[in-house]
Amino acid sequence: MIGEPILVQKFGGTSVSTAECRMQVVEHVQRARGEGYQVAVVVSAMGRRGDPYATDTLLDLLRDNGGPVDGRDYDMIFICGEVISATVMAHILKREGIPAVGLTGAQARIYTDDSHGEAEIVEIDTARVQAHLERGEVPVITGCQGVIRDTRDHTTLGRGGSDTSAVALAVALNASKVEVYTDVEGVSCADPRMVPDARLLGRVSYDKMHEMARYGAGVLHHRAVRTGQEGGVPIIVRSTFSTAPGTMVADIQDEYAIVGIASFAPLETVVVSEDVAGPTVREVWERRRGIMSLIDRDTGALVLGAPSEKSGELRSAVDEVGAAGRQILNDRCWISLIGESEALQERSSEDQELLGRQGIEVMYHELSDQRSTYVIAAVDAARAVRALYHEISGDRGSLGRCSESCQVSEP
Ligand code: ADP
Ligand code: ASP
Ligand code: MG
Repeated sequence: MIGEPILVQKFGGTSVSTAECRMQVVEHVQRARGEGYQVAVVVSAMGRRGDPYATDTLLDLLRDNGGPVDGRDYDMIFICGEVISATVMAHILKREGIPAVGLTGAQARIYTDDSHGEAEIVEIDTARVQAHLERGEVPVITGCQGVIRDTRDHTTLGRGGSDTSAVALAVALNASKVEVYTDVEGVSCADPRMVPDARLLGRVSYDKMHEMARYGAGVLHHRAVRTGQEGGVPIIVRSTFSTAPGTMVADIQDEYAIVGIASFAPLETVVVSEDVAGPTVREVWERRRGIMSLIDRDTGALVLGAPSEKSGELRSAVDEVGAAGRQILNDRCWISLIGESEALQERSSEDQELLGRQGIEVMYHELSDQRSTYVIAAVDAARAVRALYHEISGDRGSLGRCSESCQVSEP
């Protein structure tokens, strides 16, 4: 009720996929209310591709017909998954005795620009959500969507964008923190699907997490990280299926030199010359079209990559700038070490030697301020991540290791 601190809890697709999982969501909401929080919930669509109401299942209804998918149609079908999920979750909360109300992005008054499929939130009018909170109700809000103010057309925020909805709502509501519940215990130094024993990070700074997320650590949407940083709201990534404290993403000063390893497997990688697109164009490509880029250290070539969702965007971007002599590479993977530039610089030749000893060819390499990225063959990705992880976290290494003062604590 009025005066109590606000907590936003976001539940990802696997967290709401079965009746059993949804009961665990109820428990997290109940516990937080018991601790004295006013709770707002954000949900993703239920399950993964193949599940009836998952985002990819819905998008396939359009894609399977062939032909290009219009941006407005893409968003119209996309939002259905989250609408179903929010409605089901609100119903279950009520059944369990918690007053709740499901809200679409439009009903929650989340306004975006008109960039279908990759829209950015421009404003959130919190009046309605706040009114529900003040009445002691739990608003259950659809993730990853908003509405264009003038046209009332629905938009989506890019794949994985429910995290961004949750963090943006937390900032707008002046919440004390946002909890992102998912199917892993928190953020690890590497994707636990590739390195099952990867160390779990107690804390990670916004900057390093942002870089990890941009270059493939899909556990958190990169825009969510920046939104939390700009709004000064800590983000806790934790498991729906346990009460472990998870990972806090916040302003952290005492991080170790190398924080983690991320991997990004674009559908295709396109190599052009550097003068084709300057930093400003590349920034727009990344923001608007989900196209990632790096400049190869040795040759100065511009290397572009896009996830499968965005491969059409990649081709049309390259066509627009008329890049002659382009080289299209399939089945490549981008592996990135994230950390302090000095440490990355020091490691660089050692890492390339290590990969070489494993018979892994580094085709391109970029060393930037907080990241060292290697482009390699996709078949070698898991082996490369594991080799780098074990080398850096071994006896001599300190990958993601935290000092005493660096344990998870409540902000
Ligand atoms: P949700 O549907 O809950 O949003 P996602 O699939 O978007 O879940 O994100 C969770 C997944 O992120 C995990 O299952 C894990 O495989 C993957 N992941 C990638 N990199 C990391 C990392 N560094 N730490 C933890 N999980 C990671
Ligand atoms: N359901 C959406 C997606 O699959 C949004 C999200 O999961 O964050 O991309
Ligand atoms: Mg996600």
